[in-house]
Amino acid sequence: MLAWQVRTPGPIAHRPLERGSRPVPTPAPGELLLRVRACGVCRTDLHVVEGDLPVHRRPVVPGHEIVGEVVDGAYGFAAGERVGVAWLRSTCGTCAYCRRGAENLCPYSRYTGWDADGGYAQYTTAPAGYAYRLPDPYPDAEVAPLLCAGIIGYRALVRAELPEGGRLGVYGFGASAHLTAQIALARGARVHVLTRSPEAQRLALDLGVTSAGGAADPPPEPLDAAILFAPVGDLVPVALAALDRGGTLAVAGIHLTDIPALNYDEHLFQERTLRSVTANTRADGRALLDFASRHRLRVAVTPYPLERADEALADLAGDRVTGAAVLVP
Ligand SMILES: [Zn+2]
Ligand SMILES: [Zn+2]
Repeated sequence: MLAWQVRTPGPIAHRPLERGSRPVPTPAPGELLLRVRACGVCRTDLHVVEGDLPVHRRPVVPGHEIVGEVVDGAYGFAAGERVGVAWLRSTCGTCAYCRRGAENLCPYSRYTGWDADGGYAQYTTAPAGYAYRLPDPYPDAEVAPLLCAGIIGYRALVRAELPEGGRLGVYGFGASAHLTAQIALARGARVHVLTRSPEAQRLALDLGVTSAGGAADPPPEPLDAAILFAPVGDLVPVALAALDRGGTLAVAGIHLTDIPALNYDEHLFQERTLRSVTANTRADGRALLDFASRHRLRVAVTPYPLERADEALADLAGDRVTGAAVLVP
């Protein structure tokens, strides 16, 4: 089968993602063999490929927003059934975090496209216990971005503790943000998008957000909650300063450049809260997919044939993708 893999991470300009040919993988006990129907391209893939995240497997096939078709029915899934595979691949199930419902914090967790081969290929395998059933109305390329961009954004929104009808700031407006903004709008929020990209600002306004401005601009009103999607630590003080008293900033990314020094009075006092978002639980995944089945989200997709995965990743690195890039074999 055709598969893309990373042996030595490095700057995307050095083309660390290599195209190759591999045997179709054999599923381990508890796993399903899937024919990949679509795989979203996530910023985390870029962090794996460029080496912002440490190497966990060499070589590794990236990709963790996988829409797959079950090849051989097993573990309660029928042959031909469409399933989703996300970033969280497995957890231990027995540690204190797993037992208290915080499996996203499991120290023994494994991740698709980092610890195990992912979806930048024609076939992949996935543990059946971590596969999702997918809402019907979405075509493959539109449901793929829900599996990470959607789920992580959903968790970030929960972590940001946006009050009913509150004012939300969204910093950065890529795949995850454009889905999260729609969820917040559906819940009656006023949403202010702050991003440097004029195309992303246009998409945001088209989706019905309240305002769109530059990344470091002050929003037109104080924020009850904010989510930082851009992996830019310099925006942490900017977003904290934009919060109203008692507001919360959630940092959605797995990787962030250094945060500059904070001024207590300007950025944190008045009980403002700064928190991170670490992966997701399966409950988050099911909650997002359930929400998406009841509210038809508009998923802005830029499709790429699987043969052009390197180009898709380079376009993401160069901020040339509006919405979500999705590989279609
Ligand atoms: Zn655990
Ligand atoms: Zn992701």
